[in-house]
Amino acid sequence: MIKKIIVDRNLCIGAASCVMAAGTVFELDGENKAVIIQRDGIKNSGPAERDVLADGAVADDALLAAAQSCPTRAILLFDENEKKVYPID
Ligand code: SF4
Repeated sequence: MIKKIIVDRNLCIGAASCVMAAGTVFELDGENKAVIIQRDGIKNSGPAERDVLADGAVADDALLAAAQSCPTRAILLFDENEKKVYPID
């Protein structure tokens, strides 16, 4: 179960494949960097807990697909024990 998401803005190159994979969770900001779409109009690079996502019903598979699609591995996913789910070195 994915519990927390972080976008490393230093790594993000604006490739937008995360947006293609999970467009209800990721979008590009004015600097062409991915941000996480959260409730109450909040959009930033996180850390964002799963339960603050605007799309509360997004599947783990979609989050994982988005992270795996990122060419620079800029999307970090953690489980409920703060263990990194992706990327794993
Ligand atoms: S796929 Fe990676 S590099 Fe591309 S916008 Fe998303 S986080 Fe940034």
